[in-house]
Order: sequence, then C-alpha cells, then structure tokens
Amino acid sequence: MAGEFGTQFMPQMTISEYDGKWSDVKTVDSDKISLHPGAHVYHYASTCFEGLKAFKHKDGSVNVFRMDKNIERFRQSSELLYLPPLDLTITEQMIRSIVSQYRDDVPEPPASMYIRPTHIGTEAAIGKAADPSDTSLLYVLLSPVGDYFSGGEASLRILLDDIGVRCGPDHGMVKGGGNYASALKHIMRAKHEHNAQQVLFCPNGDIQETGAANFILVDGDTVLTKALDDSFLHGVTRESILTLARDRGLKVEERDIGVDELLERCAKPGTEAGLSGTAAVLAAVTTFIYKGKEYQVGSGEPGPQIRNMRAELNAIQWGDAEDVHHWLQSI
Ligand SMILES: *Cc1c(COP(=O)(O)O)cnc(C)c1O
Repeated sequence: MAGEFGTQFMPQMTISEYDGKWSDVKTVDSDKISLHPGAHVYHYASTCFEGLKAFKHKDGSVNVFRMDKNIERFRQSSELLYLPPLDLTITEQMIRSIVSQYRDDVPEPPASMYIRPTHIGTEAAIGKAADPSDTSLLYVLLSPVGDYFSGGEASLRILLDDIGVRCGPDHGMVKGGGNYASALKHIMRAKHEHNAQQVLFCPNGDIQETGAANFILVDGDTVLTKALDDSFLHGVTRESILTLARDRGLKVEERDIGVDELLERCAKPGTEAGLSGTAAVLAAVTTFIYKGKEYQVGSGEPGPQIRNMRAELNAIQWGDAEDVHHWLQSI
C-alpha cells in the first residue's frame, strides 16, 4: 500500500445526517464534506470515531472483525459526547454497504481495509459551548492499509509519564477527537526530548494506556493489564487478546499495575510488554524511559509470547484458524 497508514482513501463513502431523525443513507464522494464554519465540531470538538478492519479470505469472502463491538463502542462514545443517538442498524448498514461496494479492493492479508466511521456535531451554533449540537453527520470512510510490520517487527521505546494525563479521568472511554488533541503535547515532548515513540500514561503511578493503544504485560504464563474503568479506552483488541490467552490456559490478571511493579518485572529476562490496537494488533515494547533512565524489557528484543498472541489473532482475522468466538462478520 502506497503512503503512510491511513493516507489513502476509497473514492466514495456512506453518509447519513441527523436532524431529529436519521436521513436515508447516501453514497457520496469521499474527498469533501461541506460544513458551516460555525459547526459545533470545529469549535467544541463534538466528534468521535471508530477503527475496525475488513479482511479478505482465501475463499474470496470479505469479513469484518468484531463489527458489533465497535458499533456499540461508537454508540457509547456518541452518548458520552451528547451527540445525537446513533442508530445501530443504520450504522451497520452504512459499514456493510460501503465495504460491499469496494469488496474487490479489500487487499489480501497481511493488508486489510481499515474502516473509519465518524460522527460529528454539525449545528452552526457558536453559542453552544455548554450545549450539545442538535444536528450531526455520520460517515464511513475506507482506507486500504498495508502490513504494519512491513519495516520489520516493532520494538518500541515508550516514555512512562506519571505527570501528564491523556484526557480527563472520566473521559477515557470516549473514542473522541478531543482526547487525542489533549494528549499530543505530552507525546510530542516524549518524541523530542526522549526519542520515544509513544507515552504510556501512568496517572498517580498506575499504568493506564498510551495515546491510542492499550498496554499488556506478559510474565511467564501470566498476562497482566489494567482492569476496565472510565479512565481509558476499552480496546476490542485488548479484549480479544485476553480471551485467546484464557483459551490457551494462561492466567489473566486485570488489575492496577504500578510503575514500580512494571519496572521490577521488566528486569526479569522472560518479561514481555506490548501495545494492543486495531492498527498494529500487538506491538512489542522493548524499552521504557522513566525519570531520565532507560529500562530494557526482558531480553530487550521482541519476544515469542507477544509474537504468538499476535499470530493467533491474525490467524483468526485472516481465515487461517477457526473463528470459535464468532468474531468475524461476513459482508
Ligand atoms: C482505539 C484505541 C485503542 C485500541 O482499541 P482497539 O479497539 O483495540 O482498536 C486503545 N486506546 C485508545 C486511546 C484508542 O483510541
């Protein structure tokens, strides 16, 4: 796939507008929308989105991974932002319709078709800084994406930040634009001052997540990750990886992990750390930076456990392993 992840788009998208009710779904050119410059989204960040993927299988079928989970999270993000209520059936119809239109363009694994449903507040009302937008626009963009690991296996350098916060502590489970904008200043500082690729936010010394991925630690046959609460985004990849780990008989501990415990465990040779999300599935973290010091994770190289977990999930997504949990929805 030419260009960077997410810079190439299919020429059309599906849209529906809300003005008291959802309009019939239309398919339109995807290179522009027309909005009043006073639209709520431009001023008060009434916007949320989803990210999921469609995969081409060897039998020619096209399958979307965990569409129901992503649509439900999209509904929840819209609700928490006081955007008009999402209609789950219309949203699914919009995804199915546009993926179906471009089914021949869904690339073969390890590439896939990334699906980006987006919901924005459109009311031209700059007086509504403390009120929701009464109207909104929903659209579903498609972007063919290549192999995230084509440049070789990731081995990420991550800054542990126990001072900055990604977003308001009660807003973490919203996949909304404002959260990414507010995390940027910490991420840019980590890049410039520490040559780190991402920040792992650790408010009050508790490991939370990075700007766009969940955190998983593997120590022997134990998988550790933060338990679900309002403070961070409940990743579909995280939940899928934990389910597969339990299936394999690994012990899964969902609980708070302190920075001290993390660094202590990282000093052991077999420990592995990873970031989970739809784009990369599961990418290895090999170095943490904390208070100016560097800490190698286990051997300092991407390890077998993280690699196996990624391969296991990919095998289901790509149609190479049985989909026992019914995670794929065929288009
Ligand atoms: C999207 C996202 C994730 C990963 O979620 P998946 O459903 O696994 O793709 C994690 N954290 C944040 C902040 C995100 O935006």
